[in-house]
Amino acid sequence: MTMNCLEVKDNLSAWLDGELAPEVGALVDRHLESCDACLRELAQLEALEQALAALPAPAPPPGLPQKVVARLKRPPRRWWQSVALAASLVIGIVLGGTLARDFYPVPQENGFGTEIASLEAFHDFPQGSMGMILASYQEDEGNENGK
Ligand SMILES: [Zn+2]
Repeated sequence: MTMNCLEVKDNLSAWLDGELAPEVGALVDRHLESCDACLRELAQLEALEQALAALPAPAPPPGLPQKVVARLKRPPRRWWQSVALAASLVIGIVLGGTLARDFYPVPQENGFGTEIASLEAFHDFPQGSMGMILASYQEDEGNENGK
C-alpha cells in the first residue's frame, strides 16, 4: 500500500505532531523518502510551526486576576432567597390558573371535571380575536352539516 502526494499533504501536519497511527505514519515516511515535492511541503510546515511556537503568548487583559478573585469572593445565594424565588413561582402559577378559570369558566356537565374545557368557553372572546374567528368557523361548519 502506498500514499499519493494529496494523501500525504493531508496527513503531514498530524505526522509532524506524531498524531498518526503507526501504520499510517510509516506510509508517510515511505512517501517522503522518494518525493521532493512533499519534502518541500514538510519543510514549509516545520518552518511555520516553529514561527508560531516562537510567538509570545498574549498577555492577559489588565485587572483580570483581581476580577477573578472578586468573583470568587462574592457570597453565594442565601437559602431564603432560593425559597422566596420558588414561592413567588408557585404563587404566580396558582394565581394565573385561578384567573384563567375566572375568565374562561369550565362547564361541569361534560363529566370530565375541570380538566377539559368545552369549546363553549371560547365564545366569550372579544370581537375580532382568534377565539371569535375560530368559533365563527365552527358555527359555519355546524350550519353546513345541518343542511
Ligand atoms: Zn509527494
